[in-house]
Amino acid sequence: MAEITRREILCISGVTMMGSLLGATGKTLAEESKSANNKLKIIVVGAHPDDPETGCGGAMALFASTGHEVISAYLTRGEAGISGKSHEEAAQIRTEEANKACRILGVRPAFLGQIDGNCEITKERYKDVYNFLEKENPDMVFSHWPIDTHRDHQVSSLLVYDAWLRLGRKFALYYYEVMSGHQSQNFSPNQYLDISSVVEQKQTACFVHKSQNIEKWYKSVHGRMEEFRGMEFGCKYAEAFIRHVQSPAEPSIG
Ligand SMILES: [Zn+2]
Repeated sequence: MAEITRREILCISGVTMMGSLLGATGKTLAEESKSANNKLKIIVVGAHPDDPETGCGGAMALFASTGHEVISAYLTRGEAGISGKSHEEAAQIRTEEANKACRILGVRPAFLGQIDGNCEITKERYKDVYNFLEKENPDMVFSHWPIDTHRDHQVSSLLVYDAWLRLGRKFALYYYEVMSGHQSQNFSPNQYLDISSVVEQKQTACFVHKSQNIEKWYKSVHGRMEEFRGMEFGCKYAEAFIRHVQSPAEPSIG
């Protein structure tokens, strides 16, 4: 695991088992994380409703619970994700599921206007993601890892990466994994979060995606990933990430 900066320790350890460490001001991290000076804006970008939740649901719940602002951004509304339903019907159902999952996690949803199964990389699409991230001005962004069997995940990852470059690499960029082995591949994490305290909340948020039958196969896919990353990190359940090495040394806060 790579060394992480002191500021990130202050921010991230507030949501890990190191939560009792003291911050710079001598307050507890729980107190610090709720102070306006240390409030971070964190965005998770996923291609479909359920990607941010299954890949980063624990991280989102932890950051939100310690007072940070968290946005779950969906490139599409899952238009192609329910067999027998029109794109319009599926989008409505899956938008409602995403909104409900976000309420459970304590985060704000955002939808970026692409179409499930047909995500595009064009000048206009680059601009859409750039404009969204420029407007929201986050401190940290979690993106799909680009080496992934799903084209929409590849597209989502590259759009975020390009916006990060063109915005001057001013926020910390993290990659997350989804269904590793099936979808994400060659994913070698250098950051971990202990999500044991919120794993039930994460799963509850994932299970509201009833149109995707996540509850049926969660344990055999996402559950195994959480346990394996937990084994690597030395806790029961973890999520794992790759932090881009050219991320700013410290999130732009305070
Ligand atoms: Zn997906």
